[in-house]
Amino acid sequence: MSQRADYDVVVVGASLAGCTAATLLARRGLSVALVERRAGAGAYKRVCTHFIQPCATPTLQRLGVAEAIEDAGGVRNSLNVWSRAGWLVGRHRRPDGESSYGYTIRREKLDPLLRSVAAQTPGVAVCPGLTVTRLLAERGRFTGVVARDRDRSERRIRARLVVGADGRGSATADLAGIRPHTIPNRRFLYFAYYRDLPLGSGTAGQMWFAEPDVAYAYPCDDGLTLLACALTKDRLEMFKAAPEIEFARVFSQLADGPPLERAEQVSPLIGKLDMPNAHRRAAVPGLALAGDAALAADPMWAVGCGWALQSAEWLADHAGAALSGEGPLDSALSRYRRMHRRRLLAHHLVCASYSSGRRLMPHERLLLSAGVRDSVTADRVAAFGERMIGVHDVFSPRSIARALWALAFAAARPPAAIA
Ligand SMILES: Cc1cc2nc3c(=O)[nH]c(=O)nc-3n(C[C@H](O)[C@H](O)[C@H](O)COP(=O)(O)OP(=O)(O)OC[C@H]3O[C@@H](n4cnc5c(N)ncnc54)[C@H](O)[C@@H]3O)c2cc1C
Repeated sequence: MSQRADYDVVVVGASLAGCTAATLLARRGLSVALVERRAGAGAYKRVCTHFIQPCATPTLQRLGVAEAIEDAGGVRNSLNVWSRAGWLVGRHRRPDGESSYGYTIRREKLDPLLRSVAAQTPGVAVCPGLTVTRLLAERGRFTGVVARDRDRSERRIRARLVVGADGRGSATADLAGIRPHTIPNRRFLYFAYYRDLPLGSGTAGQMWFAEPDVAYAYPCDDGLTLLACALTKDRLEMFKAAPEIEFARVFSQLADGPPLERAEQVSPLIGKLDMPNAHRRAAVPGLALAGDAALAADPMWAVGCGWALQSAEWLADHAGAALSGEGPLDSALSRYRRMHRRRLLAHHLVCASYSSGRRLMPHERLLLSAGVRDSVTADRVAAFGERMIGVHDVFSPRSIARALWALAFAAARPPAAIA
């Protein structure tokens, strides 16, 4: 005999994906337990460079937090991209003709903001300081979680749907037996914050494909600029021997690099040495994964935050309808799983391929070179980076033909300005 559920949904992890899913599900009138192992209201993810791609702006707007992000100093972002051919300055246009934008805001502001929106949504019960250690299952489907508090006492939470939004290395996925497909990442990443660091691009961010190294600079809230570099692992030991010196050296060697000597470094250097690419089946009967739990991409591409927000929204829309009585739940979860795969997997595999530490491939170099001279190609490459269009769109025969045409007539065109 099956036991009555305590909630419609139990969400594991109260970060970007978990708070988004909980908020949107509860807005449909569903009851949601939002379980988070960290106890503090101000908890946030420390190792993240928090460039949120424009693809997620509609989700932030739907959550009703875009204005609060701007009030907190979040910067409307865009990116200029350097390759050996020069600077590519592209902007994806929305249907209303405006340039699309995402946000760059530190997680110490973003995470508590999203958590407070979830906590204030009627129907959400936030359960901080609880770590999920087991799953409950009945007749081949998952029916809840067992969570342990700081005193090691256990609490059972039964729900019609379990959502694993517990990040890279998701315990929920592991407990459910959903194994990750993993592709090694042969780069490591270091970043730090600077004050009074003018960029040649103004408020736009910058990214350098200084093959095989990658570096980036993101203006963010409070007048700070985040600098990061991702280098191949054969240089890790040398880097670790003198990280500050090596970090400064990387930026001093970039074309139009930021003048570090004029700026104040206001944080320690933060490193992430192992960042494997991993994706998993996004749903099984009674249980779904969102955010990094379902797909943890190479951080260098700055896609994880946006995809955490978007995947949680897709899940809430599919599962929320079913839980509100519009059709069977497991069919809705299958539709979510297929949508997740269709929208994200090809992007993820392209990112993962570059994390081998390889150099740019001919078709990638072609688009970056042509985009330096041709605004149509530049805008298409930007739309791809912003994850507004798919892999097949950016590498389509039409797109490649346009790039070849642009290069053939390149001599007549002046190179694009940086800003
Ligand atoms: C170095 C680095 C730089 C990055 N830079 C960017 C960037 O510029 N732009 C971008 O878009 N993305 C970036 N990312 C990726 C981004 O940080 C993640 O994609 C994003 O945080 C995923 O959000 P999430 O909600 O899925 O998971 P997380 O933010 O990881 O949150 C998971 C939550 O689950 C909780 N939890 C875990 N286990 C349990 C458990 N058993 N029980 C209860 N709670 C649990 C955790 O405490 C946490 O609150 C970067 C990542 C790294 C490593």
